[in-house]
Amino acid sequence: MSEPPLLTLVIPCYNEQEVFPPLREAVVSLLDALAPDLRTEVILVDDGSLDATWRLIEAFAADDPRVRGIALSRNFGHQQALTCGYDFARGDAVVTLDADLQDPPEAVHRMVARWREGADVVYAVRARREGETLFKRASAAAFYRILRLAGARQVRSDAGDFRLMSRRCLDALRGMKEQHRFLRGMVGWLGFRSAEIVYDRAPRRAGTTKYPLRRMVRFALDATLSFSILPLRLTFLFAGGLTAAILSYLAYVAARYWLYDVALVPGWTSLLLSIMAFGALNLVCLGILGEYVGRIFEEAKGRPLYVVREVAARPDGGPAAPVPRSP
Ligand code: UDP
Ligand code: MG
Repeated sequence: MSEPPLLTLVIPCYNEQEVFPPLREAVVSLLDALAPDLRTEVILVDDGSLDATWRLIEAFAADDPRVRGIALSRNFGHQQALTCGYDFARGDAVVTLDADLQDPPEAVHRMVARWREGADVVYAVRARREGETLFKRASAAAFYRILRLAGARQVRSDAGDFRLMSRRCLDALRGMKEQHRFLRGMVGWLGFRSAEIVYDRAPRRAGTTKYPLRRMVRFALDATLSFSILPLRLTFLFAGGLTAAILSYLAYVAARYWLYDVALVPGWTSLLLSIMAFGALNLVCLGILGEYVGRIFEEAKGRPLYVVREVAARPDGGPAAPVPRSP
């Protein structure tokens, strides 16, 4: 009989010491429940935590050969931590979940079932967002609307990073080396056959959110800018609109002069306004351009997406290096 397929769970952790004990318990019972039909491994990526998270991960990895811990050299951010987990994953399929147990581990069974039916990507779509503030829900809704407006049509809204990917999808994703990573958009861009399951998003089990407003805004900006050049095109629209306005004004002035012989002497206000409007427009366009140039600059440097400080794995556990990408 051939070996059952291997499933990898990737869990990014940033200052999650409060939630770690229940997380560990939930992960172990999930692995045990999946056991007869699937082999499993867990990759816990410590994204530069400043609390006891790494010690807890080390202890877990020392007790369980299915578990490996990877510590990044500093805080690189959620998407980068996930990228690291993907590089170390050996599974035939990979599931990512948040450390705070907002993504219920039980849902993994349903995701696996869809994968076995032939889906390459299984999105977990949020039915309810319990324990999230009205503001968070409203901003999430606005975020997905703007994204779609900006042309990122492939992004499944209300699916976070809780998803399953098959090996071939993961390998394709690993070929995308961009620095500003908006993974759910990248996965959408890849295509493949997708399926979805619906789940109720639980409130965070313990600890506090690691996505304060500042980070959420940066994340949304990254997503929009790395997914479309619509903002750049908008500058054309602005410029076109203004040119039309100026031309009609010019026609109006000329007509007045030729038809009624009235010159516009008291044009001070409109003159000042139009100068200011052009100045502002120029600055806005420069700013948008600057954002993209900055991104080109960062891509051009070609830096690694994350830096690993150390790996915690038992000798009988998985390898302590990234898995080579199959072509
Ligand atoms: N996270 C991370 N690096 C960061 C911020 C967050 O690895 O810089 C992890 C965090 O530990 C958690 C997941 O990303 O497992 C989602 O973060 P959080 O639950 O704080 O976000 P929210 O659910 O509030 O959007
Ligand atoms: Mg959370």
